[in-house]
Amino acid sequence: MSDDMRAQIGLRPVINVSGTMTSLGASIVVPEAIQAMAAILPQFVEMNDLQRKASAVIARLTGAEAGFVTASCSAGISLAVAGTITGNNLLAIEKLPDVAPEKNEVLVQMGHVVSYGAPVDQSIRLAGGKVVLIGQATSTHRFHMENAITEKTAAAVYVISHHVVDYGLLNLVEFVEIAHAKGVPVIVDAASEYDLKLFLEQGADIALYSGHKFLGGPTSGIVAGNKDLVRNAFLQNMGIGRGMKVGKESVYGVMAALEAWEKRDHAGIRERETGYLNLWKETLDGRPGVTALIEPDPTNNPLDRMRVIISAPEAHITAWDLAAALRSGEQPVIVRDHEVEHHYFYLDPCNLHPGQETIVAARLAEELDKARASNEIIATPIELLSKHRFDGMLRWPD
Ligand SMILES: *Cc1c(COP(=O)(O)O)cnc(C)c1O
Repeated sequence: MSDDMRAQIGLRPVINVSGTMTSLGASIVVPEAIQAMAAILPQFVEMNDLQRKASAVIARLTGAEAGFVTASCSAGISLAVAGTITGNNLLAIEKLPDVAPEKNEVLVQMGHVVSYGAPVDQSIRLAGGKVVLIGQATSTHRFHMENAITEKTAAAVYVISHHVVDYGLLNLVEFVEIAHAKGVPVIVDAASEYDLKLFLEQGADIALYSGHKFLGGPTSGIVAGNKDLVRNAFLQNMGIGRGMKVGKESVYGVMAALEAWEKRDHAGIRERETGYLNLWKETLDGRPGVTALIEPDPTNNPLDRMRVIISAPEAHITAWDLAAALRSGEQPVIVRDHEVEHHYFYLDPCNLHPGQETIVAARLAEELDKARASNEIIATPIELLSKHRFDGMLRWPD
């Protein structure tokens, strides 16, 4: 691509078949958001008024009473939790994360304490919340939650994610029912979900979304919900929210991304993505040791991915070595490999520019042909993967 700025500053031209990954720059920002950001950047505005306008757009799209834009969904968790601890007490807001001890406990199911790149529970602790884990990793029952609620309980946080344990836990409707029976507000982390209405409809008091994931907005977080709780979260901008603030371009960029989302040709995009998946399936079917399955998104987003299962004895390469081979070279193809120790990875079509699907297919064929032609089985011990996982980060910026 001639207009690709990456070569100019010496960055590798990544092809992202892993989904909306923060570590790769999240998503392709929609043209409407780019235009909005360029238009507002040279102007002065009254930020609280701009956030009032954002509130109206967020309310319209989510069904919430109010909303605002912050730095990230992670920031949204901290601000929403902080709001439930401080209420609208401006002095308490300035004192965070130190809190008066009477009310700062935040319930979370143990099976929801995952890492989205940082730990869920840390975003609660940053706000002065004391995390109270309920249940066990793979089971939460009503009695766990009912008995955990005390007069110190400020909120209950519910996480929607492919990372959470997906069986044996309380569903959102039950979680809300138990919390509301004792007057406890429910905050839902729905960072990566398409459905902007469902969780509030199911009774959540606050729903949080990332602006930079499926919405294709700038890096940001959306806080939506009950007006008083949203206001109490917004007031944190005079406290811990200061370091999580966004500029005018992000607020206006998110407004534009939300409006574009309303008009987006979701069916057309799905059809295009299905075409990519079919191409990859044709490329992979019939190859020794390779199984390609098209699977729906685990949290019900309207999106399919391809699971590529690799049997090393026949393919002559492990799933993780294949992922590494695709990631190396002039044009890195980065696959979704969270569970690669199970001998599979996923190809996610949602962040491809048209034309890149054929490069992905060609690179898959190339690396698989090369492995088959090798006399040895390419098999790095899986232990080395976890051992070296953070090496690069610990050397940064070198
Ligand atoms: C991505 C993600 C986050 C973090 O979102 P940011 O907006 O990048 O902070 C939080 N929770 C879940 C479930 C996520 O998928």
